[in-house]
Amino acid sequence: MGRSVSKVREAKLELYRKKGKIHARAVAGRFNTLRWALVWLTQVVFYGGCWLTWEGNGALRQAVLFDIGREKFHFFGLVLWPQDALLLALALILAATALFLVTALAGRLFCGFACPQTVYTTIFTWVEAKVEGDHLARLELDRSPMSARKLLRKGVKHGLWLLIAAWTAITFVGYFTPIRELLPALAAGDTGPWESFWLIFYALFTYVQAGFAREAMCQHMCPYSRFQGVMFDRNTATVSYDLRRGEPRRARGKAGGGGDCVDCGICVEVCPTGVDIREGLQLGCINCGLCIDACDAVMTRVGTPTGLIRFASERELAGTAPGRRPRLAVYGGLLLAVAALGAWVLSQRSLLQVDVLRDRGALLRETSAGRIENAYTLKLKNLDDAPREFVVEASGVPGLEVVGERSFEVAAGSVRPVSLTLSAPGDTSFSGVRPITFHIAAGDEAARSVQEPSSFILP
Ligand code: SF4
Ligand code: SF4
Repeated sequence: MGRSVSKVREAKLELYRKKGKIHARAVAGRFNTLRWALVWLTQVVFYGGCWLTWEGNGALRQAVLFDIGREKFHFFGLVLWPQDALLLALALILAATALFLVTALAGRLFCGFACPQTVYTTIFTWVEAKVEGDHLARLELDRSPMSARKLLRKGVKHGLWLLIAAWTAITFVGYFTPIRELLPALAAGDTGPWESFWLIFYALFTYVQAGFAREAMCQHMCPYSRFQGVMFDRNTATVSYDLRRGEPRRARGKAGGGGDCVDCGICVEVCPTGVDIREGLQLGCINCGLCIDACDAVMTRVGTPTGLIRFASERELAGTAPGRRPRLAVYGGLLLAVAALGAWVLSQRSLLQVDVLRDRGALLRETSAGRIENAYTLKLKNLDDAPREFVVEASGVPGLEVVGERSFEVAAGSVRPVSLTLSAPGDTSFSGVRPITFHIAAGDEAARSVQEPSSFILP
């Protein structure tokens, strides 16, 4: 028993020295609740999103699907094609700008609450705590020699981690291969080479990142942690220790005298990245707020106002008034501009693409009625998720008209080549090659026609 207590003490010291594996102490409080709310929200969306269906083209299909084989991205009723890459670029710029704005406002909030690395580390750590016990029990287990008990606990933990990682990989691949087709194929051992590769890669990636890399990813590998500092200003609210209020620290765990910090060290014990926030803003801090929860509980216990550790800006901690924030205006303005541009591009995008090819066989033909005819091949590409009828007109030469059929039905998401003849009066005052324009519009959207230039040859 005495040996076990000394081991625990030794283990706690190990934690303070920030050596070895970090086993953070569990903590309750508003930021922990918010963190778990975000874990639930993001994972319900991720694990559930691939199971949603949408009725398109007369049949039920997966609502969110990157159909790489057919070069389509389905997002409920919206179907995006490679030519919509501008929208994807705008969406990425929008997300990056939103991240910059949030970082300028409140530091690494994304890292602490919504980053997949944080979310999966939280889930894996929860499993670890359920199997191996609290942080001290885990430290003790890690240091104990191998035994049947240790082997069993470690085995169960790694088994559960692998199950979560496998399901995460299946879900990920399920956004590229319909999940309702992927699961039977997986059960039959009949997945394609790319699916098999990504299933194995993503499962191992999740297992290693959330089970082993954990905070090392945030501290040493994540590029965002390196350049986030340039988005900060002196008004950015980050998790901070109020030095003026906390120092000098009192004797460990004792009340009375000195500053408000009782040097209990619990803020360090709960930190998932092993940071002592009392040493100031550090690269390893992901702004998760767990040290705030821990310190608030300690302050309440010793009868001192909470907020010794809190979200506070450099100016607030220095007791100076908040200054002007030009970068907030820049990020905010950019965010609005990109959002507006994206909405405009989306509203203007055409669900029809047309290529016009002149017939190479004959340049022109004169009919018995004295009219001049030119032949063309039009490639009509319907980008919609439903069959559509397109009507073709042409202009540029007086009396120019389409001969015969001018309305063509094109199946959903397909290209239909159609042969078309244009005719113009032979007695026109024009001669030679005349520029003309094809106007192609969906039957139900005549006002929004696609214009495609071409030429008409007269004698
Ligand atoms: S939890 Fe609060 S009182 Fe305890 S060491 Fe940290 S800052 Fe000091
Ligand atoms: S110092 Fe506090 S806010 Fe920063 S990572 Fe550690 S617990 Fe989270």
